[in-house]
Amino acid sequence: MSLDFCQELDHNIVRVDTGYDRPNLAAVYLIQAGDHAAFVDTGTYHCVPRFLQALDHYGIARTNVDYVIPTHAHLDHAGGAGELMRQLSHARLVAHPRAAPHLIDPTRLIAGTSAVYGEAGFRQRFGEVVPVPAQRVVEAANGFKLELNGRPLEFIDSPGHARHHFCIYDAESRGFFVGDTFGISYREFDTDNGPFIFATTTPPQFDPDAWFHTLDRLLSYSPQRMYLTHFGGVANVPALAQKLRESIQVFVDIAIAAAGDSPERRVRIQQRMLDQLLYGLRTHGCALTTERCGELLATDVELNTQGLEAWLDRRERMAQQTRPESGRS
Ligand SMILES: [Zn+2]
Repeated sequence: MSLDFCQELDHNIVRVDTGYDRPNLAAVYLIQAGDHAAFVDTGTYHCVPRFLQALDHYGIARTNVDYVIPTHAHLDHAGGAGELMRQLSHARLVAHPRAAPHLIDPTRLIAGTSAVYGEAGFRQRFGEVVPVPAQRVVEAANGFKLELNGRPLEFIDSPGHARHHFCIYDAESRGFFVGDTFGISYREFDTDNGPFIFATTTPPQFDPDAWFHTLDRLLSYSPQRMYLTHFGGVANVPALAQKLRESIQVFVDIAIAAAGDSPERRVRIQQRMLDQLLYGLRTHGCALTTERCGELLATDVELNTQGLEAWLDRRERMAQQTRPESGRS
């Protein structure tokens, strides 16, 4: 019997639907090498039972999971790390140097995420955030390499969506596990034209210039596949990378056009972003109703808008700092 939340991909990779928020929204990847395995991303505390079920289903002993690898410290990717580590006694947690301290002591992570979702929303979405013991954490700086039972993995620092983000290159599949760095591509939006893709400009560290640079670096590996957390593996990487670049630029342009102190700024960004995404979906040949598209996009439009506003505010602060003093001396 197969598990309905698992999909076996090529190259001994299993996509596990975490069940976070809705089906087909957030994936975790189980990479196998012989009878050993690693998890890329961890979902939230609530998702961990599914991962243990997946291990049982594929006959992988819990003591044979060598690594747990959250791509970055946003809680839909790393919230379950501590609980998963508690269940997998032999695993080491591999984390970006900027993410590791926040997984060891999640106090600030909890505070920051509660600010986005509110206290009640936080508890419902993320449950508990269990600290990871520091002695079990391996920091993976840019270029860090490890072998999962002989299967080489390489870690690439990948700022743009977040500064605490890395991507993992898997030579066996010639693919990258990209977390949020290759945007969002929901399978509901697939058409004869292929996948639909758009940027995720979540607060508070969205940085378009860094992101463009990161995409150049990832593409220099000529990857055949990108494994997205939201949601699943995509091929035809250069064409999708171009679409993602366009999406980043369009969202930046929308933010700049709405910049200023107007109390309407947020609503204006939200509306234009939604209009732009719906227009893109129509052009892409998506046959879902506008209402259904709106439902699938609602949380992303909200989070993306918050991220663009944070970016606008940061940009304004930096401009003020570098502006020369005016007036007479
Ligand atoms: Zn993220």
